[in-house]
Amino acid sequence: MPVPRPVLPPEGRAAEAVLEAMDAASTEDARWREGRTMSLVFDPGDEIAGFVKRAYTRFFSENALNPSAFPSLRRFENEVVAMTAHLLGGGPAVVGNMTSGGSESILMAVKAARDWAAAERRVGGTPQIVLPRSAHPAFPKACAYFGLEPVFVPVRSDFRADPRAMRKAISRRTIMVVGSAPAYPQGVVDPIEEIAELAQRRELWCHVDACVGGFMLPFVRGLGHPVPPFDFDLPGVISISADLHKYGYAAKGASVVLYRDARYRRYQYFAFTDWPGGIYASPTMTGTRPGGAIAAAWAVMHYLGYRGYEQIAAEVMETTAQIRRGVEAIADIEVLGDPHMSVLALGSDRLDVYAVGDELSARGWHIDRQQDPASLHLTVQRGHVGRADELLADLRAAVAAARRDHGRRWLERSAVDLARAALRVLPSRVGRALTLGVAARMGIGEGGSLPERSAPMYGMMARLPNRGDLKELVLDALDRMTRLDD
Ligand SMILES: *Cc1c(COP(=O)(O)O)cnc(C)c1O
Repeated sequence: MPVPRPVLPPEGRAAEAVLEAMDAASTEDARWREGRTMSLVFDPGDEIAGFVKRAYTRFFSENALNPSAFPSLRRFENEVVAMTAHLLGGGPAVVGNMTSGGSESILMAVKAARDWAAAERRVGGTPQIVLPRSAHPAFPKACAYFGLEPVFVPVRSDFRADPRAMRKAISRRTIMVVGSAPAYPQGVVDPIEEIAELAQRRELWCHVDACVGGFMLPFVRGLGHPVPPFDFDLPGVISISADLHKYGYAAKGASVVLYRDARYRRYQYFAFTDWPGGIYASPTMTGTRPGGAIAAAWAVMHYLGYRGYEQIAAEVMETTAQIRRGVEAIADIEVLGDPHMSVLALGSDRLDVYAVGDELSARGWHIDRQQDPASLHLTVQRGHVGRADELLADLRAAVAAARRDHGRRWLERSAVDLARAALRVLPSRVGRALTLGVAARMGIGEGGSLPERSAPMYGMMARLPNRGDLKELVLDALDRMTRLDD
């Protein structure tokens, strides 16, 4: 029986009834309030979050599309940008904008670099960006949107970018090189100093992706932890992205993109002067820009101040250290590389870590699966402070269960490697949608019994007759996500 397609209710419903329906819809959501979500949510606790919500709602209706109408928002944005620049080694010449998130910040930097190269470098053919394999998918996304070509370079055995290999990958068409501080998959800061020097020597644009680290690393360094140089202190760095809606603990929809000076940022802008609706100018991708996200970012930075962020960073680093010590004490599972802050990956040479992930999911944890190498991803944030023991106890149990399963495991390592791009989305509902898609293509009816757990799914995908289908299947899965009956 197909589910009837919803229509706008003819009459409005009572507020309480609507809110109750929303609560009911969220019963299967990831349990971030209990600190069981190892990605997606940065929870500063009720007191800070409550304050951020108050700040957000004060500017709920305001629109930063036209800053001259709202001098308040203009001031908030400029001050957020200036405070962020100061944190990241930027002098008074550094400028930037707030965007809706890390992806938009990266899209803007790539767009600016493209137009800069077209105007000042006159590169023939399709421009290229040289980037480590660990760089965020927002970069290939920007390339796909803006007509550039990403050139991926393998990382070193410590998971950090390999500047020598990057140098060799540079061609006459290269316009940009990228480093991350840190890269998301294993949480290590790339050797940005060498990448930025390389950029300077070859007259390339160097972007540092500090989306996840921008509001953590400065405090982590201040606390005495070793953090390699990564910001505007390095003269070759042209632009930096840093997300306020991650370790800035701002409301979602807040990131900053910074440029060494206004000359570079100019290439980010868009203006259209021939519209009957008036002269239209816009700094970033979006038209209407929510005042709440900008105001809340300004507010949380003022509410916490340097000391507040430093205090949170200290708690988060202590929790991370507890988790690392606990993992070291468990046989067959390990932290990959030597992460610089609180983003880390757990891998294993002997166990199927996806099976460990399934065991953790069964115990109520939301943990992302990664590939090349197979690992589980943890973003430790304030919502996890005081919960390391809980996580470690469940991890010990999960590893023990996966060990017991090991003999029965029919999945081979090569099969896992073949699952490729799909792994990033597997733990979510997309994963289930993907399973259905794979099953359908393999002629296993949708009514048949499908695995609830993700590990067997990788094996199914590896058995697909045509592995080139995988990207299509992932796109099919996205389509399925918008179907009501799924
Ligand atoms: C989160 C993240 C991004 C993308 O940010 P969104 O806010 O999800 O668009 C880019 N780079 C890194 C390293 C990140 O962690």
